[in-house]
Formats: sequence, structure tokens, C-alpha cells
Amino acid sequence: MTESALQELLAAGSERGSRSPSAPVILPGQAAVTLSAMTTDLIPPFADDDFHRVLCVVAHPDDVEYGTSSAVAAWTARGVDVAYLLLTRGEAGMDGSPPERTAQLRTEEQIAGSRAVGVSEVEFLDYPDGMLEYSLGLRRDIARVIRRRKPDAVVSGSWEVEGRIGLNQADHRVAGLAAVDALRDAANRWVFPELLDEGLEPHSVRWLLLSGDPRPTHGVDVTGEPLERGIASLEAHAQYLAGIPGHPEPRLMIRGITALQGGAMGVPNAVLFRAWDFHAPPPIAAEALAAAQAQDG
Ligand SMILES: [Zn+2]
Repeated sequence: MTESALQELLAAGSERGSRSPSAPVILPGQAAVTLSAMTTDLIPPFADDDFHRVLCVVAHPDDVEYGTSSAVAAWTARGVDVAYLLLTRGEAGMDGSPPERTAQLRTEEQIAGSRAVGVSEVEFLDYPDGMLEYSLGLRRDIARVIRRRKPDAVVSGSWEVEGRIGLNQADHRVAGLAAVDALRDAANRWVFPELLDEGLEPHSVRWLLLSGDPRPTHGVDVTGEPLERGIASLEAHAQYLAGIPGHPEPRLMIRGITALQGGAMGVPNAVLFRAWDFHAPPPIAAEALAAAQAQDG
């Protein structure tokens, strides 16, 4: 999170949830529904049977906890198996604390945060925090976990330089790009043949779900219990957050983030994703076929 992003999200949370006593009380859901109905079509939810096993691939402890973990709580509550793969332990994240101590602390906080939303397993690849490099080795290591866990959906973040919350952090860009490439690698028998030697057959993931994408296609209603569990998952990073000057209270922050996204779905609190279906032909294929048929007359 950048400071400007924090300010934006804090402002959103204040606007919707923390008006002064004299201001009119507007419930987040009502305001959101009205705005969405006036301006856009609502973002649809995923179908309940779209996926059953999810793997979230992120760079650092706490990366999942800024909204996505509330969606994770909604999924695990209905029996979806969700695991986390962290590429680093976030050891470079606390200026006043040596990396070895920070790694230990942030590992413990991540495991506690994961438990709060029902995650089945948390794995760490131990790449260096702050210096994560896009590489074939990183792709292979992510592909290995994908083949072993066999998820039908992989969740990761954007690899764009600029995104919804401002300029994207270097490790976050690398993590997103390596995750999408590893998703394809995991399905290709002839890429990383050493994985076959380890007994790991190709696995074809159907969905890539990108969080924080400015062009969301699907959403998860997290109103109520999932939101509460998502807040608890960020609160689990208490010692880490205490070292970030001006970081808003987790409750205010997650309420604000999910209220902003809820507006697009017509619910009080939501988490939005851009979903790519790797088992469907790209939309351009149907357009191209139609164009060819039109030429045929
Ligand atoms: Zn991060």
C-alpha cells in the first residue's frame, strides 16, 4: 500500500461510514445501489460452482488482506479450499527491525491472518523481499505448487505499473506477471520437464482472478460475516501495521475498500476481480469468425 492509496481508501471509508453526527446518515448499501443503478450495469457474482480449489499467489505477508481475504472468507464458508502461496516473507518491510526478526514476525502474523478466513495452507517460497526478480526459476517454483495443489482458480494481483491504488510496487508487479505465466507453464508438459521428474503432471487451471484490476468482471458479496473475518485477517498483522505511520484502523480501511467495490455490485460490501477463463476461447475468436462469415456474405 502506498501512502496516497491509504489516504484515498481512508477517505472512502470516512465518507461512507463515519459521518459526523449532524450529517445525514446514509447507509453504504443504499448509496451504492442508487449510484450504480444510475450509471452502470451491476458487476455479477461468480456462479457457486465456478471453482472449488483456489490458490492465491502474492509477494508479501498482508498482500491478500486488503480486501481479497474477505472474498476468501466467503469462499471457505461455502466449502471452497483456499491456499496461499507467498513468494517472500516480507522481511524488508520494517525499517526498525532486522530482517530475520521481521521474517519470523510476519510469517506468524500471516498464518494467524490466514486462519481467520479459513485458509487450508500457507506456503512461503523465501525469495528476497524487495528484490523479487521475474525469472524462469520463479515461474517454475510457482508452477510446481500449482501442479501439486491443482487449483481451478489462481488469484493474484496486477503486474501493471499503474493501478487503482496508484503506482504498483516492484515485487507486486513481478508476482502478478510470474503468476499468470506460471499458470500456463503448469499446464504445459514440455515446459520445466524437471517437474515431471518430480512426479508432477501438467495441470490446467481454468480461472485467473486479478484483484484490484480497474476493469472487474465479477464480484464477491462479502457483506456481514466475510467482511468481519476479512477485517480480523488484517488485524492479525498488528505489529507490522504498527510500524506504518498513519495506517488507518483495519476495520475502517477494509470497510472502506469493500464499500467502494460494493457499489459496483449493488451490495454494501464486495470484492471485485477481473476473471480470465483459460478454458474458453478468447472473445476475439468469435468476433473474427463472425467477420469472416460476414465477408462470405
Ligand atoms: Zn506487498
